[in-house]
Amino acid sequence: MIVVMREDARAKSISDVIARVKADGYIAHLSEDKQRTIIGLVGESETPLDDSTYQIMDGVERVDKIKVGYMLASRNFHPDDSLVPLNGSHMGSKKVLVIAGPCSVEGRSEIIEAAHALKEAGATALRGGAFKPRTSPYSFQGFGEKGLQWLAEAREATGLPVVTEVMDPGLVPMVCEYADVLQIGARNMQNFTLLHAAGESQHTILLKRGMSSTIDDLLMAAEYILSHGNRRVMICERGIRTFETATRNTFDLNAIPVLKNRTHLPVLADPSHAVGYREYVPALAKAAVAAGADGLIIEVHPNPEKAISDGRQSITMDDFRTMMAQVRMVAEAVGRTA
Ligand code: PEP
Ligand code: MN
Repeated sequence: MIVVMREDARAKSISDVIARVKADGYIAHLSEDKQRTIIGLVGESETPLDDSTYQIMDGVERVDKIKVGYMLASRNFHPDDSLVPLNGSHMGSKKVLVIAGPCSVEGRSEIIEAAHALKEAGATALRGGAFKPRTSPYSFQGFGEKGLQWLAEAREATGLPVVTEVMDPGLVPMVCEYADVLQIGARNMQNFTLLHAAGESQHTILLKRGMSSTIDDLLMAAEYILSHGNRRVMICERGIRTFETATRNTFDLNAIPVLKNRTHLPVLADPSHAVGYREYVPALAKAAVAAGADGLIIEVHPNPEKAISDGRQSITMDDFRTMMAQVRMVAEAVGRTA
């Protein structure tokens, strides 16, 4: 249930509603939009929720019963786009931000050199996995903490914030020490213990859609993080499993406008994992921006043939520069910048 306050509601009326929520045994989450304050009630209590008692309180415009399982992620709770700070800009703003880098961190000098080139080409943040969720246990699993240290050195050298995956709830504090953004990957989207730990960390989170998850599943996974009061959540469409075998996954372009409609959270697209072949990545990156994506995450490798993981879908630095120029044109065509 959400309590929508009137635009001219006094601070006292707002605090009275919050006190009432607490007295009823629920947690009050506040959404302060440009226009008005909205109070979301979450949690469980012996006291059944009675909308009519809130409806008559001073300053209340209306009470909405939210039927979806992701109240805090929904646009009803927060009508404006949420802005997540990243490198002096905001994901979710008019500017489309691009996170780029290799699939895995492969070495100290490799990641530092890549970071310099990516920054030069216009990337806002550096990606690279130190803990890799590989489908086969015999594939390279990442350099672990050493990889995180190299990423931190790359940030030191270039100023690019670091986006890297965390797979284990117990390692959240350690990854937070090195990374600016914790990525929760497709294979862990419904690892609820990890989602709770990510919420508790209050760190910025990039949550990727599970390859067999619906849009609602993704939003409810985001809700786990939001329910801890962590508002810095970005979500990412990265391709889903379908009967199609010509590409690694099927990029669900539908998801971009649908997510933008249902949630206030920034929506990113990862065309690299979605299609799996580098020659198609720029086309899908442009399509995602045209469809309203707030950001992109792109796998780039100086020598994709030699990449330890996901080389087939990694674009070269030259391709990245060309793609960025094209993405800028598309962004401008839809009233944004990049
Ligand atoms: C990755 O970003 O390298 C990755 C493993 O992504 P996903 O979780 O989307 O497969
Ligand atoms: Mn990858």
